[in-house]
Amino acid sequence: MSKSESPSDVERWLTSQTAGVGLAILGSLSLRRSPCIREKNCQACLSGEQHRSYVLYGRVKGRRISVYVPEELVPDVRRCLDNGRALQELLHEAAPRYIKALKRERTKASGGQAS
Ligand SMILES: [Zn+2]
Repeated sequence: MSKSESPSDVERWLTSQTAGVGLAILGSLSLRRSPCIREKNCQACLSGEQHRSYVLYGRVKGRRISVYVPEELVPDVRRCLDNGRALQELLHEAAPRYIKALKRERTKASGGQAS
């Protein structure tokens, strides 16, 4: 993190970092237990253990959404969620760096004082 980076340095840094992130998604994955619908006398249901299923909750254009995630797809979904969080971190990190770079550029252009 250089003290003299310009807005385009920040852009190049962010572009190179996000390029390596991979497919990124956001949402919250949760595990829920529910009884099965059809089967009667199901052992899992009778024992109270029930059936595990994963659901991804999120928001799309302000609307709450939930998507069923089959268990075998969970590792894949988790990986992309981790990527999403990594991307979010990068965007948060980019904000102060970019603003500082813009201020530095403005100061340089006007020959004035840094603020
Ligand atoms: Zn059952």
